Amino acid sequence: MQNEPSDAVERRSVVPVVCYPDDTLPAPDMALYERVRRAARKVDEVRVPPREARTFEVPAGGFFRISSIEGSQVGDLNLHNLHDLSERFYSGKTRALHGTHVTTGDRLWSSFPTLRPMATVTEDTLDWYGIDGFGGSVHDVIGTRCDPYTNTLLSGGDYHHCCHSNLVRALADHMEAPLHEAEALVHDVLNVFMCTGFTRDTGQYFMKASPVRPGDYIEFFAEMDLLGNLSACPGGDCSAEHSSDAAACFPLLVEVFESPVEALGSWERPAPNGYDRSHGRGEG
Ligand SMILES: [Zn+2]
Repeated sequence: MQNEPSDAVERRSVVPVVCYPDDTLPAPDMALYERVRRAARKVDEVRVPPREARTFEVPAGGFFRISSIEGSQVGDLNLHNLHDLSERFYSGKTRALHGTHVTTGDRLWSSFPTLRPMATVTEDTLDWYGIDGFGGSVHDVIGTRCDPYTNTLLSGGDYHHCCHSNLVRALADHMEAPLHEAEALVHDVLNVFMCTGFTRDTGQYFMKASPVRPGDYIEFFAEMDLLGNLSACPGGDCSAEHSSDAAACFPLLVEVFESPVEALGSWERPAPNGYDRSHGRGEG
């Protein structure tokens, strides 16, 4: 441990600046989404069993809703461009742009090189929660996903129903491909309904019992044709532990809504990011 410099207090008192001020981020047209939502009709639903994952498809311009139905339950969500699974949700950049947790009006951004909105949160029945006294909030993009590798590292033994494995099996079934091909495409998640933060004293990632109750939901507008993949986390409400069969786990419901073309009006699918990709080499 080093001795503090004489100006340590001064250095610590520097006021932070937001890394990515969002005043230049194109704002979603929430009034348009609201109008479109009124015209949308339900076309599909998928029930995700506890400690399993299921995929679902959402047409561009449509919506999908994830609901808690039988008990407090956290979900781990992956999103892919339905036509190019390598374009997928980028939780790290979404965190950098919107913050540690997302809610109504925030967007889920895709990986490089496209970096464009994949989905926009249009409704969140837990938006009242805000940030609690512990610094915790709901729907995080800070956790990664529970996985058997970390579990083996920390606890030993093989547990096969971590969200990572659930997502791998479900994606492999969708792709009709071997597990290792699907595993390469599984990525860091949006932790739907999960209540998390960082401890103020040690900066450690914490979780606490989710405030979600049956009937709560989060709904998204699909900015492109999407393949969703949702795992009902073995942690249940994530009040105690995950990566085991110890917690009470409940199913999650995904409902998909299609929007009539005429209701979408002037809405356009977001174009891939405009950067020319020459990376300073000039050959473009
Ligand atoms: Zn999990």
